[in-house]
Amino acid sequence: CGIVGHVGPLNSTSPAGTPGSGRSLEVLLDGLSRLEYRGYDSAGIALVRPDGAERLTTVKAAGKLDNLRTALDEAAPAPATAGIGHTRWATHGGPTTENAHPHRAGRLAVVHNGIIENFRSLRAEVEAAGRTLVSATDTEVVAHLLDLDFTARLADAGQDTDAVDPGSATTTLVESMRAVTARLEGTFALLAVTELAPGAIVAARRSSPLVIGLGEGENFLGSDVAAFVAFTARAAEVDDDQVLLLTADSVTVWDADGKVVTPREWEVSWDA
Ligand code: GLU
Repeated sequence: CGIVGHVGPLNSTSPAGTPGSGRSLEVLLDGLSRLEYRGYDSAGIALVRPDGAERLTTVKAAGKLDNLRTALDEAAPAPATAGIGHTRWATHGGPTTENAHPHRAGRLAVVHNGIIENFRSLRAEVEAAGRTLVSATDTEVVAHLLDLDFTARLADAGQDTDAVDPGSATTTLVESMRAVTARLEGTFALLAVTELAPGAIVAARRSSPLVIGLGEGENFLGSDVAAFVAFTARAAEVDDDQVLLLTADSVTVWDADGKVVTPREWEVSWDA
């Protein structure tokens, strides 16, 4: 039951020569291990990069973080620009690798802490729309709802998903997040990434914890400040029903009415 997100620059060069800071994986694993104390039964991460054959990679494993580390060693994902990570405390569906987050739908991936109360009717809706679910979770339904809305909006705007401009993909994903979370009943801290917008994380929350970490040329999200304390001491608050967009050098927060708001910031002090 923990969440971590990291987005770094698209255009610096990592030691491996790949665009992006290349350190999302390191940040996510550090964050997840610091969130272990919250309890969990499985873990996973999604990594996004601006180019290459596989621009969105998901790796997950039932059990301890060491199982995820082993799976990552095998998958050996290329350095990434952005990523989201999750430790799961199963509420819908057993603690299996399939049910572990992130959940993928189309060109996006989602992690979620909380419970979607109306997931049964939403599941029927996405199945009726032709989607096949591979897990028993409430979360995978949200991933598909988000992707259905996202692809419909891109199509309405005449955007071909193979050549969509990352700026419009980002704006569209923010709109989809607002539209979809407005339909959810229950609790959520929800993070989404798409290979169509490799420099962005879009998030939302309601009654599940979520905090922003403000870095220099990179930004973070976490269930609590422990998720990013190794990298920055500047934190900012997210309120219920806000939607947010993180890029390497910007954090934008909207309230439920779509109005931009300034989040309250504070300095994390471990002496306090
Ligand atoms: N309800 C979701 C699931 O069962 C999220 C659980 C959590 O908060 O970790 O997969």
